[in-house]
Amino acid sequence: MSVVFPAKPITLLKTTGGDDFPVNRVFCVGRSYAAHAREMGADPVREAPFFFTKWAETVVNAAPEDDLEIPYPPETTSFHHEVELVVAIGKTGSQIAVEQAQSHIWGYAVGLDMTRRDLQAGAKAKGRPWDVAKNVENSCPTGRLQPIAGCGPITAGAISLQVNGALRQSGDIADMIWTVPEIIADLSRFYTLAAGDLIYTGTPAGVGPVVSGDRISCEIAGLAPLSVRIGGS
Ligand code: MN
Repeated sequence: MSVVFPAKPITLLKTTGGDDFPVNRVFCVGRSYAAHAREMGADPVREAPFFFTKWAETVVNAAPEDDLEIPYPPETTSFHHEVELVVAIGKTGSQIAVEQAQSHIWGYAVGLDMTRRDLQAGAKAKGRPWDVAKNVENSCPTGRLQPIAGCGPITAGAISLQVNGALRQSGDIADMIWTVPEIIADLSRFYTLAAGDLIYTGTPAGVGPVVSGDRISCEIAGLAPLSVRIGGS
């Protein structure tokens, strides 16, 4: 086989064990935490969580030792942080039952779903797709992936984000409107989930803008931390 130009390398997310996890697709959940749904003007009781997608290449390794800097993206003046629990799928499946969902989890990480909030607000107002707001290059800095075999299922625990050392987002995984198994089961109604898929499971309240030079630090209890610097545009 010959190709007309070299194929792009597969995106690799580093794991705590040292092996790389090949990233297949990226799914994101909207409105996972009631308090964040309210701050975005939605009613978490009436409106169920929903899904959107990003390219695999939006994922970038962001352990503190990676010393990652991402550029401030073009065409926005409101680049927002969203800290999220990332669930990595390790086994193919569709129409997955809630009771079986945990067996499809390879592991967990702490990740960011960075967002051009101004473009998202404009898209919402006009009923347009969110792609240019959400599917932003380098918009998913992610910490080391922890295998579930080493930590067990995560159903509760503190999730937090700091900007330049000041606490901006704080919540608990237990406060998600839908549990991780329920999210996997629901998503698998629409797609055949495959090993390598990542699910960014939504963010707690406190989202806000960053500017060039800011340092974002994120933690989820029991997982390796995340650190990323916002560079120039
Ligand atoms: Mn998000």
